[in-house]
Amino acid sequence: MPDFKTIADFRKDNGEAIRKVCREFVVLCRRLELFSAASVAIDGSKFKAVNTRDRNFTQAKMQRRLAQIDESIARYLSQLDSADRQGEAVPGAKITRLNEKIATLRQEILRLNALNSQMMQTKDQQISLTDPDARSMATSGRGSGMVGYNVQSAVDTKYHLIVAHEVTNVGSDRSQLSHMTERARAAIGSETIEAVVDRGYYSGEEILACEEAGITVYLPKPMTSGINAKGRFGKQDFVYVAEDDVYLCPAGEKLTYRYTNEEDGKTLRRYWTTACQACALKGQCTTGKERRISRWVHEAVLEAVQARLDRNPDKMRVRRQTVEHPFGTIKSWMGATHFQMKTLKHVSTEMALHVLAYNMKRVMRILGVGGLMEAIRA
Ligand code: SF4
Repeated sequence: MPDFKTIADFRKDNGEAIRKVCREFVVLCRRLELFSAASVAIDGSKFKAVNTRDRNFTQAKMQRRLAQIDESIARYLSQLDSADRQGEAVPGAKITRLNEKIATLRQEILRLNALNSQMMQTKDQQISLTDPDARSMATSGRGSGMVGYNVQSAVDTKYHLIVAHEVTNVGSDRSQLSHMTERARAAIGSETIEAVVDRGYYSGEEILACEEAGITVYLPKPMTSGINAKGRFGKQDFVYVAEDDVYLCPAGEKLTYRYTNEEDGKTLRRYWTTACQACALKGQCTTGKERRISRWVHEAVLEAVQARLDRNPDKMRVRRQTVEHPFGTIKSWMGATHFQMKTLKHVSTEMALHVLAYNMKRVMRILGVGGLMEAIRA
């Protein structure tokens, strides 16, 4: 049996080959017709990096750390002042210890300031000392983030095989939809594909790119507007009437098109009515002179996606059942630990090994060990 060093070196030295084997295994699954008729669920999951939180710095963390040190120095200085006032009654060893603590903290400030200038030169103003590619990421629940990687995976809905995956160090899933669906489509070898994802992937541009590429997506729209939280009507309370190009508001008034402008690179059409001033519902609608509704020029695509999901409400259940299986399994194999390797390239190899192992075990379940061996030989 090879020792851990041999295994670690093998993994380190054969990254590209390991990633290729992982991809080839997906091709084998395709040949064995183990995939559904091109239907996948896509999700991202955060995996811890070897880098601890203490060795990762963002601007906010750096400021917090420096402020804590300032507070500690102020506390020690005030203890020194009161020791001065008490004179001989305070043992000399205590004074020396306080001075040492202050000196250590001042050294720490110098170290942090040097790191700060390094950090400010990076693209995302973030620095990780153990694994330079690991990034601080928010996680769902608990409110505590982690330093790690966001692993994207596309899972086939039939046997829950992972058809495509990618390790990223981007904390959000928002920019991943078209890229991951394209990868899944290529892996399955299908002209068309349907993908079901959660609201974390909601991005107008990404959805538009999928629809234009012939990829059918199912995803719910996130409720991001603070208006609903304040008890006022949200945009969903305004109905768009395509034939007349107007919105009907909750009071039954028609909000007509007024002008078009650009915002954050999006072309938006603006609608409103002059009836707001005399409206009995104005208190529930707007604090301004009139309620304005914006419509993205490609909004019809988003409405079609919403209508599709409304017609197929069980798709979100399929998503949960499909995509949570592989992540749950791989994380339970890994245990409560982090990736063993460092940097995006090597972590990608490590993940490819996990995915390969997961897919192989799934196929062994489906075909049996003999069936898989035979298929590999064929
Ligand atoms: S305030 Fe204006 S937009 Fe809102 S319900 Fe009344 S008329 Fe309609």
